Amino acid sequence: MPTGDDGDADGGAAAGDDAVGDDHGSAADLERRTTRPPAFDERFPVPLRGVAVDPETRCVHWDDPVDVVALRCGGCDVYYPCFACHDEVTDHRLEPWPRDRFDEPAVLCGRCGSTLTARAYLGCGDACPACGAAFNPGCRRHRDRYFEG
Ligand SMILES: [Zn+2]
Ligand SMILES: [Zn+2]
Ligand SMILES: [Zn+2]
Repeated sequence: MPTGDDGDADGGAAAGDDAVGDDHGSAADLERRTTRPPAFDERFPVPLRGVAVDPETRCVHWDDPVDVVALRCGGCDVYYPCFACHDEVTDHRLEPWPRDRFDEPAVLCGRCGSTLTARAYLGCGDACPACGAAFNPGCRRHRDRYFEG
């Protein structure tokens, strides 16, 4: 029996993580925020918006433990947890990240805050190269929404 822990012990929970917040308490760190233009969500190291975004970039649409990537729109250059977030808070459709910019940062790891180039993300095998966080394989299955083919 694990001691003093009644949760399911699959290791995916955010509880007990250190590292992310600097001067926020843990209650604030679990806050979900909806951010619309022209504002950005200042919790993240890149310009990012979305609907009910948690501290690891899960959103109201994609909320599994592995949903910790945000993707950048080729039209407005801003990061969003998913295309539905993008389309809800902007007035244009998400444009796939253009092939001639595949060596620029286009994906944010919500777990560690690292950015990945489109090329690195598409070749990463569904885990963050920096921190090892598992990424949802479904995002790459929708790759033509997010990346020019
Ligand atoms: Zn856009
Ligand atoms: Zn979303
Ligand atoms: Zn990471």
